[in-house]
Amino acid sequence: MSDQAVLHVKGRVLAGPRDDQVHDELWVVGGRITYDRPAGAGDVTTVEGWVLPGLVDAHCHVGLDAHGAVPDDVSEKQALTDRDAGALLLRDAGSPSDTRWIDDRDDLPKIIRAGRHIARTRRYIRNYAHEIEPEDLVAHVTREARRGDGWVKLVGDWIDRGLGDLAPCWPREAAEAAIAEAHRLGARVTAHCFAEDSLRDLVEAGIDCIEHATGLTEDLIPLFAERGVAIVPTLINIATFPGLAAGGEEKYPRWSAHMRRLYERRYDTVRAAHDAGVPVYVGTDAGGGLAHGLVAAEVAELVTAGIPPVEALAATAWAARSWLGRPGLEEGAPADLVVYEADPRADVRVLAAPHRVVLNGRVVS
Ligand SMILES: [Zn+2]
Repeated sequence: MSDQAVLHVKGRVLAGPRDDQVHDELWVVGGRITYDRPAGAGDVTTVEGWVLPGLVDAHCHVGLDAHGAVPDDVSEKQALTDRDAGALLLRDAGSPSDTRWIDDRDDLPKIIRAGRHIARTRRYIRNYAHEIEPEDLVAHVTREARRGDGWVKLVGDWIDRGLGDLAPCWPREAAEAAIAEAHRLGARVTAHCFAEDSLRDLVEAGIDCIEHATGLTEDLIPLFAERGVAIVPTLINIATFPGLAAGGEEKYPRWSAHMRRLYERRYDTVRAAHDAGVPVYVGTDAGGGLAHGLVAAEVAELVTAGIPPVEALAATAWAARSWLGRPGLEEGAPADLVVYEADPRADVRVLAAPHRVVLNGRVVS
């Protein structure tokens, strides 16, 4: 022990959202957190400030850009950008790349994968998804559940070009069978849904989470709350809806108008869901059209929507980690933490400038 390097983290260690969960200090020994001062510590490095567990970006894509799969060196840059922004646990919401090699790198964020997106034929962004028909849904869910880390990602709705509007992708029976199979394999299921119409079927079919969820209406919110179905609003991505709507105006006016309505009520939707007890988590949707490293901007958006700052922090910190089954700042947990120069509970904009990022016990940034 005496020659082991020790990191001493002091200031305000926010191990939870409540005042009685705040500690004055912790130590990192062998890459893990301890609240007991190590005896005879050798080389001690000290960092000081307000400490949060490594932030969660619960909707992120590593290995993906606007055109599809990217080479490993680009995936590495994406992961490093998220890391330096303090996002140390990513739920990858679908990627065509095999990023399993990242798991062997202790300097890169931890990733919980959902395999590759599963979409209906010609009903999603090109080169992203397995594009299939309902009779093949169970087989693909089985495969992606085995490839991923406990999640499967469906595209629940998308523009139907014949209809000229957003429309559900899967018949109710196909979704039911697929979700049941995922659960049997120990995987949770989430779905991309912009509009209203796919939500009831998916929730009643037992889905665990909805991405974007802009179509959540007052009549559906109690159903989500009762069943504990989480939403990841990705508000910084929803901010692109007016631009998309303008681009599609001429060819698909109905779709454009629909996207604008969803955009205009986005803050009300998120606040109403939160107020009704629907679990809301932070996700940026980085990796498709959006840049990586924007976790702080999404937390700020949740606050703009009307979620109290400490709860918006919980949605990327303590609550998000617990939802994904990963520890926070507990005794013995891997030392993945972020240190700030001011109290993020007082102003979440503090998250935009981490003072130190510690991953697996090492100061990496
Ligand atoms: Zn996404």
